[in-house]
Amino acid sequence: MADEIIHKGIPASPGISIGKAYLYTRSTFEVDTEYLKSGEIEKDLDEFKKALELSKKELIKIREYSQEKIGKKNTLIFDAQIEILNDRFFIASIENRVQNEKRTSSFIFDQEMKKLGEVLLSVQDEYLKERVNDINDVRNRVMRNMKKEKIVSKVEEYSIVISHELTPADTILFSKRKVQGYATDKGGTTSHAAIVSRALRVPAVVGMKDISKSIVSGELIIIDGFNGLIITNPSENTLSDYKIKFAELKIYEKELNEVIDLPSETADKKAVELTANIEFDEEIDFIVNTGHCGIGLYRTEHLFLEAGEFPSEERQIEEYSHIADMTYPNKVTIRTYDIGGDKLTPRSEKEDNPFLGWRGIRICLDRVDIFKEQLSALLIASSKKNVRILLPMISSLIEVIKAKEILKEVMEDLDKQNIHYDKNIEVGIMIEVPSAYFIADELAKEVDFFSIGTNDLIQYILAVDRGNEYISGLYQEFHPAVIRAIKSIAESAHKNNIKISVCGEMASDPLATAVLIGLGIDELSVSPSVFSEIKRNIRKLNFEEAKVLCDDIIKLTKEIDIRTKVSEFYEEKIMVGIKY
Ligand code: PEP
Ligand code: MG
Repeated sequence: MADEIIHKGIPASPGISIGKAYLYTRSTFEVDTEYLKSGEIEKDLDEFKKALELSKKELIKIREYSQEKIGKKNTLIFDAQIEILNDRFFIASIENRVQNEKRTSSFIFDQEMKKLGEVLLSVQDEYLKERVNDINDVRNRVMRNMKKEKIVSKVEEYSIVISHELTPADTILFSKRKVQGYATDKGGTTSHAAIVSRALRVPAVVGMKDISKSIVSGELIIIDGFNGLIITNPSENTLSDYKIKFAELKIYEKELNEVIDLPSETADKKAVELTANIEFDEEIDFIVNTGHCGIGLYRTEHLFLEAGEFPSEERQIEEYSHIADMTYPNKVTIRTYDIGGDKLTPRSEKEDNPFLGWRGIRICLDRVDIFKEQLSALLIASSKKNVRILLPMISSLIEVIKAKEILKEVMEDLDKQNIHYDKNIEVGIMIEVPSAYFIADELAKEVDFFSIGTNDLIQYILAVDRGNEYISGLYQEFHPAVIRAIKSIAESAHKNNIKISVCGEMASDPLATAVLIGLGIDELSVSPSVFSEIKRNIRKLNFEEAKVLCDDIIKLTKEIDIRTKVSEFYEEKIMVGIKY
């Protein structure tokens, strides 16, 4: 028997499957390069139109199916693809070129789609680069329909699909065949096929270089989405190890399903509030149907990004009231605009150091008109008394005092108009700038709660840009400076009798749960995708033991030592018996 081979790639979606490989090769469609005679142009354009309509219909069907399977949020991919085919200017420019240049529409369409792809490839953003795959999918779909060929999906049920690359549409359509995993030569973790696999909760490994050349359909393989592995010709030992891991995983998944509606408290009954981070209106489904929890961070920047300008007060009242109604009786913490930094700003000229620039509360205090509209909308949405206001990027006491004065003026205006709102609305601040950490004690006296934005706090404390891939290894949530800062901020909050939450990504890292709770954090606001995992961790945890762990790590001086200590604690107390 041939030797076992372990192929390594990039882990794109966690999970383990053992099954038969199915090698999927997508047909390629050649363009018609010949010139058209005058009499042929109309027929060619007519066929192009029909192919566009058919492609649109296919995508709309796939979008409907995926909405059912993976929720509305993940179907934005297909919206974007449909939009290309609906773009009247884009299509008209292709038709004009066909008329003028007398080349086939397949030839011109192919050229124009390549141009679109090149634009995306030229940007310094991995996510946008991955979108080229989505553009190619649209191109191939139209080409196939011009050749009047049908989609073939003869994928065998329960197989693990191996392919050079996969489109989100392939991934979602194959899921009808109960596919158990995906591995591709190309792609990164932000490719839509990877995003769709995660939403489907199917293991996936991407960037495997030439896996599609090393595997034949029908052979037994193992896919390990945790470690980014495909194992061919697995030995008896490997196979039995993976069968055990697979069984453990099933038990773990069952535990996660069971825990979702149980109280969020540690094994020794310390309540830890678990809330969700919500960025888009669509995500509210999770709060209503699954999490039944409050919202620890509602980012409002998307309103600005969608409109390309500050939204009207009416639009905001509608949005915030909807969120507050849907979350009621639980609380929703709505953060005032945190534009600037890596997000869009209302200024057209670029800043040299946007992360140290005109951002968050700084913009709001300079544009009081805009800030007042937002505060007014928030107050009007607060009549059921479940809205809290959160101010971002606070770096000095004076900013808090000014923001509260403006809030008071807005309240007086509403009083004059007899508009009902929560007069005791809680106002909190993000602690995400080092200066706020140093003056946390004074700030705590001015506000009702703290929320630590670890995404920014880590970047500013360590001077490591949160989005720079070259130094991503230096972006360390377990850096001793970060751990000590969180402890000290929590102490300041408690000394002044206010609650403290963490709403940065660190709260969504399952390995950080014990640390944050042990350091005294009262609330974790996490991404919906890890909500049940974090709840399970909280319930497994003993608060007194977590405090002892933190007493130990606070003395350590190296990130690696802290991480090792925390990992050991997890193996012993939280993940007991589960290894993958
Ligand atoms: C943070 O900085 O941790 C945070 C939650 O805010 P944002 O990621 O929106 O900057
Ligand atoms: Mg932030």
